[in-house]
Amino acid sequence: MECIKIGMTERADELFELVARTLSHSCYQQTISEQNGVRMLCIKAPSITDYAILKSALSDLLAKYLVMRYENKFMLRILRAKYFYFNATEKQEIIKHAIKNTRLSEQHTIINRFWAVEREQMIKQKLTEYFDNASDIILDGFANFRLKEYFNELEEIIEKAVDDYLMEKEYAEFIYLLKYFVDVQESKCDHVHVLKDFEGKYMLSNEHFEEIDEGSIDDYRDEVVEGLINEDDLLISALIFLAPKKVILHNATEFKNKELLKTICNVFGSRVELCEQCDYCFHTNNCQQLQID
Ligand SMILES: [Zn+2]
Repeated sequence: MECIKIGMTERADELFELVARTLSHSCYQQTISEQNGVRMLCIKAPSITDYAILKSALSDLLAKYLVMRYENKFMLRILRAKYFYFNATEKQEIIKHAIKNTRLSEQHTIINRFWAVEREQMIKQKLTEYFDNASDIILDGFANFRLKEYFNELEEIIEKAVDDYLMEKEYAEFIYLLKYFVDVQESKCDHVHVLKDFEGKYMLSNEHFEEIDEGSIDDYRDEVVEGLINEDDLLISALIFLAPKKVILHNATEFKNKELLKTICNVFGSRVELCEQCDYCFHTNNCQQLQID
C-alpha cells in the first residue's frame, strides 16, 4: 500500500482537517503520527492508480491552501526583509495595497483571480514534481526552499504595492499642500460656478453668473496657449487662487478627467457642490445631445 505523509510545523490540525474533509468520500486511510517532533498526516492509497490520483489531488489542494492561507504571511516576510526601512504603520498600508492586488477586489476581480490561479498552478506544478520523487513532505519547509519562482512573483507584487503606497502618499501630501494654500488665503469671491463649454474649456463665474475676469487667471491662460499647462491644471490653479467659499461644479458627471474631479473634492471638501439640474446643466446637456445627434 502506497502512502504520502504531510507534515506542517504550525497549524497542522487545520491543514489535516482540510485534507480529511476533502478526501472524506474516498478510499484513502488517514492516520496522524509524530516524526522528529513534527506532526504528520499519513494517507494510504489502496492501489497505484489511487496513489496517482491522490498525488494530483493533494498537489492541487496544498497549492490552494498555501496561496489562501500563507500568501499574506509570505508577502509580509518579503516586505520586512526588503523594505525594512518603512515603519510599522507604513508596512501595514503597503500590505493593504498588496492584498488588494492579490485578492478579489471590486475593480480587479477577474484579473486578480487570473493571477491567483496562475500562482496556484505554479505551486501545483512544483508539488507534482516533488511527489514524483518523494512521498514525505513538510509543507512549510517545501514552501521556503522550493518555491523560488512563486516568491519572485510575490516580490513583484510587494514592489508594486510599495510604488502604489508612495504614489498615494505623494498625492496626499500634494492635496494637503493645496488645502493649506486655500485655507490661508482670503477668499477672492464667495461662490465660483465652474461651467464647461463645448470646446472643453472651463468658464468660471461668480454667484451672479458673471464671468470672473481676474488678471492672474489670464496669466495662467497664456501658459495654456503656450502649452505649458493644460486646461485641467488651469482650473485647479484658478480655483486655488480664488479660494472661494463655495465651488459649484455644473454637469460634474460630464467631466472626463475623474482624477481632476476627485482632486477638487479633496482640496475643497465641504465647499464643493455638484450640480446636475440647474438651467445651465439642463441647457448644456440638451445642446450636447443635439450636437451628438
Ligand atoms: Zn448646474
